Amino acid sequence: MLTNAPKGTKDTMPDQVYKWHYIEEKFAEICRRYGFKEIRTPIFEHTELFQRGVGDTTDIVQKEMYTFKDFGNRSITLRPEGTSPVVRAFCEHKTYADPQPTKVYYNIPCCRYEKPQSGRLREFHQFGVETFGTMNMMADAEIIAIGYDFIKEMGITDVELQINSVGCPECRGKHREALKDFLKPKYDELCPTCQERYHTNPMRILDCKSPIDQELVKDAPMMLDYLCDDCKQAFEELKANLDAFGIEYVVNPKIVRGLDYYTKTAFEFVTTKIGAQGTVCGGGRYDGLVEEIGGPSTPGVGWGMGKERILMTMEACGFEIPKEPGTDVFIAFQGEDCKLAALKLMKELRESGFSVQMDVMGRNLKNQFKLANRIDAAKTIVIGESELESGMLTIKDMESGEQTEVAMDQIAAELAK
Ligand code: ATP
Ligand code: MG
Repeated sequence: MLTNAPKGTKDTMPDQVYKWHYIEEKFAEICRRYGFKEIRTPIFEHTELFQRGVGDTTDIVQKEMYTFKDFGNRSITLRPEGTSPVVRAFCEHKTYADPQPTKVYYNIPCCRYEKPQSGRLREFHQFGVETFGTMNMMADAEIIAIGYDFIKEMGITDVELQINSVGCPECRGKHREALKDFLKPKYDELCPTCQERYHTNPMRILDCKSPIDQELVKDAPMMLDYLCDDCKQAFEELKANLDAFGIEYVVNPKIVRGLDYYTKTAFEFVTTKIGAQGTVCGGGRYDGLVEEIGGPSTPGVGWGMGKERILMTMEACGFEIPKEPGTDVFIAFQGEDCKLAALKLMKELRESGFSVQMDVMGRNLKNQFKLANRIDAAKTIVIGESELESGMLTIKDMESGEQTEVAMDQIAAELAK
């Protein structure tokens, strides 16, 4: 028990962490190109931030939250998603008073009490982007474009961008009624979850993963046919903007974001490469959320992307993530005097920016060389009695075997060549 991580969590060991560094650095770089700045918010929040009212019927709020009382008897929840905390910070810091839009990204762990399976963890990691303060569909297209560029640069070939509009509170009401009328005679055949959704949030039935329910909603009325003029025009603009960016998409009228604060644009990037949990990125517009959290009415649009699923998909697409540079120099030594000289040299070389290692296990010279091989050092330097006396050291290139004699105080300059 003590030596097992909790169910649904994963360690990233040192020999794997380069993959995470790679995607994190690329993501930050792409966000920089788009003018998005990083935001960091706490890993836990007041429970009310996520659980705002009885109307919230998402899986996250109903059954997936890690919620507990702290010693001050406050209800605390480990962040299950990134958008609400960012909206909270946007309100708390009155960022809405600045010239808009506000464009931020984040790179965070999230916790959800789910049934662990491939691509579904209890602690997982997300990238996310959000734009606040504009209704302009240029912002939606830009948000989608960041995801598109990132996914492309990660070597992911098998992915489809699916877009939809979920309308606005005005036009959604009519669709809701039509959908309920359509489903009424099929109610008994729906899965238990969807029977509940029928009363609380019927639109989410369209998105049910059960094949039986999928069949039942095949000819159901779709939101796209119920859009008001404003929402219809926004959807046309979104498509035109995506075309201008050269971004391919398919319209999937079954993509939903059930909650009332979601409006207009909804989208997912879906792959078939990693099995059932194929949504690597999901997002949309949420013009009602800032107000719901307590700020002034401010539109927003964004997405969240699962880092584990991105890595799985990259692997499935055969993308080789480049390894990070290893040790530049290994310094071998023999005897106490040489050790001190070697420590001094190691310190100087590290100050000059080189990655340098020495043995700290008391290995003999032969085993120090074995160690240099094992850690894949690019070069080795030996300090023995004679080297110490002459002040001349030999740098050996481990790949070519080539040896160069250099004065002790010239090593850094020689290595820099
Ligand atoms: P799903 O349909 O897989 O349940 P979701 O709609 O709950 O996803 P979002 O809340 O939109 O997901 O989160 C954004 C992204 O985070 C998802 O597209 C997915 O890539 C990833 N994600 C969500 N839940 C998990 C999880 N439990 N483990 C790993 N990744 C996850
Ligand atoms: Mg989920």
